[in-house]
Amino acid sequence: MNKSYDLIVIGAGSIGVPVATEFAKKRLSVLVVDSLSSPGQGQDKKAIGGIRATHSDKGKILVCQRSIEIFSHWNEMYGDDIKWRSNGYSFPAYTKKDERILRDLMKIQQSFGLNVKWLSPEEYRELNPGISMEGLCGSTYSPEDGSASPLLFTQYCYFKAVACGAEFRLNEAVIGFRIEDNRITSVRTNRGTYHSAHVLNAAGSFAKEVSQMAGIDIPVNPDSHEAGISEPVRPFMGPMVVDIRKGPGSKNFYFYQNSEGQVVFCMTPHPPIRGTDNRATSTFLPMIARRMIKIMPMLANLKVRRTWRGQYPMTPDGFPIVGKMKELENFYQAVGMCGQGFMLGPGMAELIYRIVTETYSSDDPEILKSFDPYRDFKGQEIFK
Ligand SMILES: Cc1cc2nc3c(=O)[nH]c(=O)nc-3n(C[C@H](O)[C@H](O)[C@H](O)COP(=O)(O)OP(=O)(O)OC[C@H]3O[C@@H](n4cnc5c(N)ncnc54)[C@H](O)[C@@H]3O)c2cc1C
Repeated sequence: MNKSYDLIVIGAGSIGVPVATEFAKKRLSVLVVDSLSSPGQGQDKKAIGGIRATHSDKGKILVCQRSIEIFSHWNEMYGDDIKWRSNGYSFPAYTKKDERILRDLMKIQQSFGLNVKWLSPEEYRELNPGISMEGLCGSTYSPEDGSASPLLFTQYCYFKAVACGAEFRLNEAVIGFRIEDNRITSVRTNRGTYHSAHVLNAAGSFAKEVSQMAGIDIPVNPDSHEAGISEPVRPFMGPMVVDIRKGPGSKNFYFYQNSEGQVVFCMTPHPPIRGTDNRATSTFLPMIARRMIKIMPMLANLKVRRTWRGQYPMTPDGFPIVGKMKELENFYQAVGMCGQGFMLGPGMAELIYRIVTETYSSDDPEILKSFDPYRDFKGQEIFK
């Protein structure tokens, strides 16, 4: 019972599980505590599996580029099929204003070396043949982005962590910390007390509550998003479609065809729906179905299998909060992943390892500036 770990991770989700794998692979002792009954049961399993490096900020770009390297080589490295598909992302524009916004963003992305280009309406139709051409001005296309199964990836990652010696305490909630001399000396759960040199908050939608247990307030507030999945059909889609237009009750929505042939879709409600209520609504499906059929009429005959609801753990500016806390010298945050925790996960795990072991890479200072827990949160990520 007196064992002391190198790291305790609070939360076995999109971030906590890859972190455990990374530390265990490097032969450091790690304990992951999660209040739910198995890994990935928080927001991780709600993600639809989109993975892109095409963001507007260097920090997110670099972390996601590393994630893409890991996702895309996972099968050949470990022999587990996580259903990686290099299908790419596309942001079609239906107004001149949106075209301008997307072309400006594309220039920023290209300046970071990302492979993203502008396609004419005809070129875009070749990739996504069902797309509505009415008013289409063209689209961005980033062929190196892709998709994978969050359910499979997190489970395989968990098995790997356990095989390398990581320990998991599931069905066990962290309820407090013992703090002495500006250090967390133990982590208290509803079932026991654990000791560790370092403690990482990776509690997703409950990150704020966990941080408050250490007396530190952080601006992570979950808001709800719903998603759905269709029956599998013959491959007909190229890249993920992200429609940035607003509709009644919604902002953008996005959908793609996964490697099993199922169309997976998700929408950003407007105004935002705050809180952690996970009950799916009856309004989501009619709302998104109308929008999807408008942009790709052939989807009208597709049968939907199920819908679900989860949260994006949002920060005011759309950037994660990652780093070592000044108030407590062995407490770290890896929270506020917004709508991108799954795609950030593997790259973020390596970053957390470098932060905790103080083995920074030359890019880390710039990455950490974007994710700084002490920033003013006044900036805005484009398409957060
Ligand atoms: C509909 C939808 C679609 C999405 N699509 C995508 C997508 O395509 N691509 C993408 O990258 N992201 C997507 N996301 C976002 C992604 O799911 C989240 O950003 C990500 O899961 C957050 O990871 P996390 O590790 O911070 O939190 P989680 O994965 O939720 O993990 C946090 C864990 O902490 C545990 N926990 C909390 N409090 C405590 C406590 N006190 N004690 C012990 N354990 C605790 C929870 O039980 C949970 O398991 C989507 C989200 C939704 C809702």
